[in-house]
Amino acid sequence: MRELLPGTAASRGMALGRARLVQPSRYLVDTRPLAEDEIEGELDNLHRALDTARLELHELRGRLHGALAREVNEFIDAHSLLLDDKELLRGLDDLIRIGHYRAGVALKKQRDRLAKVFEAMDDPYLRSRREDVDQVINRVISALQRQTSREERKLAARVGEILVADTIAPADMAHLVGNGLLGVVASSGSAYSHSAILARSLDLPMLVGARDALATIHDDDLILLDAERGETIVHPTAQDLARYRAWQREAAAEGRRLAKLANAPTRTRDGVPVRLFANAETSTDIALARARGADGVGLYRTEFLFLKHKGLPSEDEQFNAYRDLVLGMGGLPVTIRTLDLGADKADAAGLALRGEDNPALGVRGVRLSLRYPAVFTTQIRAILRAACYGPVRVLVPMVTQPDELIAVRTLFKLAREDLQHENVDLPEKLPLGAMVEVPAAALNVRALLEHADFLAIGTNDLAQYVLAADRGNDGLENIYNPLQPALLRLIAYVIAAGRRANKPVSLCGEIGGDVNFTALLLALGLCEYSMHPSQILHVRDRLATLDHATLRRHAPRLIRAHTHEDVEALLAQLAEQATDPS
Ligand code: PEP
Ligand code: MG
Repeated sequence: MRELLPGTAASRGMALGRARLVQPSRYLVDTRPLAEDEIEGELDNLHRALDTARLELHELRGRLHGALAREVNEFIDAHSLLLDDKELLRGLDDLIRIGHYRAGVALKKQRDRLAKVFEAMDDPYLRSRREDVDQVINRVISALQRQTSREERKLAARVGEILVADTIAPADMAHLVGNGLLGVVASSGSAYSHSAILARSLDLPMLVGARDALATIHDDDLILLDAERGETIVHPTAQDLARYRAWQREAAAEGRRLAKLANAPTRTRDGVPVRLFANAETSTDIALARARGADGVGLYRTEFLFLKHKGLPSEDEQFNAYRDLVLGMGGLPVTIRTLDLGADKADAAGLALRGEDNPALGVRGVRLSLRYPAVFTTQIRAILRAACYGPVRVLVPMVTQPDELIAVRTLFKLAREDLQHENVDLPEKLPLGAMVEVPAAALNVRALLEHADFLAIGTNDLAQYVLAADRGNDGLENIYNPLQPALLRLIAYVIAAGRRANKPVSLCGEIGGDVNFTALLLALGLCEYSMHPSQILHVRDRLATLDHATLRRHAPRLIRAHTHEDVEALLAQLAEQATDPS
């Protein structure tokens, strides 16, 4: 019987396919006691995960060299010893064998038990060992989860299927799309999460917050995912299917119309030129950026290179990737962003020394790079070498204050001198810019502009830090809203400061490529948008319908609004005056 499940559209489009369910990882939610005949299998699962964790630490040690190795090896050794600690291991085995707990639950219990022991200690050094225990056990839990998700992945990788899951990690999504996945229905998650961003860039329809999906949909049910309306229809009727076919026809016609814009200039209705840049990482993105007529690459996130390698890429590896990017863009400017790893991601690259209670506010972006000058210098050398092959700009992430930019400039200067001694060709100039994504950087932007050649506003993070709301948390969607007046005021302030200093300001957060925000950003004075290349034609098309002068005139009203609802209402009013419907 037909059933309709509401959700929030995170990536638009429609898809018709068979449902493939992925239940949340059983290790973290399954608290049912083990049956007698499950015990040996569960012990086996635990010991496989322990072996994986040991191997990971061993590999991590092998990847580090020089000063970094000296700093980190002490921690690796401490963790390796803990993984072989007889008492810890016996405790885990007993919890499974005698307590009949599943491995995930046993690990959590053991972690809580040891935490209490360490917390009761007087010696601050011994007390601090609690962190090591937490990290080691978390590493084993994560290995355990990966074991299950690998099993789940086998289930979920067939052509013609729509994934129905609690959430999906970006890496899993990329893998499944390669296997013919048609869409995603997630029971939790937010439209601003990294998975949602990826779904949009892959043109993969996705709904989030479809609360009842896992309980209502069954494997192999035929479902119609409608991310235009924000709903999933289980067992669609002939009428639903007719609507789907009509949408397919319309989408194809719209695609043909947009394709004609690939070589058109980007101008508003009243003739004001706007520059559209691409956020690009892969060779596919680079090819698409060229095909869609991008003005260059506005954001190349180098952390992808580090995470792909699960370690530190060498200078040559980085040089080759950056040079390919520069060559691929055929003389158009490219903006290479230096490493932006948060403490959570840094672990995969082998850079995290210890877990932080609050990684989003921790040693992330340029803070991390400056803490590891040897690693950073390797990246800087690779960028300098690649910059001989075309126009390159360097963008520094998570800048909070001018001294960070000054330090980065000094490192570039030193690397330049070394390369000169080595007789390596060097670019004449290499503009250095700052991401504005920390509220302090936005508020103190004039000081930053004394040291930056250009700015790029990162609204994904700026919104999360201004609003104190995690961009991936679905419980905060009413707060994490890019129309919040506080955020708009900062954006307008940064753009105006850039204009006064005569330095370019672009915007490379998700809203840069979202046509729902194109008019608003134009009103705030933006002339350089950077977005996933799949969005370029849509934004160019939207800009051609907008009257720049009208929008600019109304900017003060938008900025003075009190709530995001007020901004939304004002924009709707403005749409009629500033848009040419033809
Ligand atoms: C941003 O924060 O807006 C941004 C573009 O950077 P990232 O999404 O990589 O954090
Ligand atoms: Mg950011």
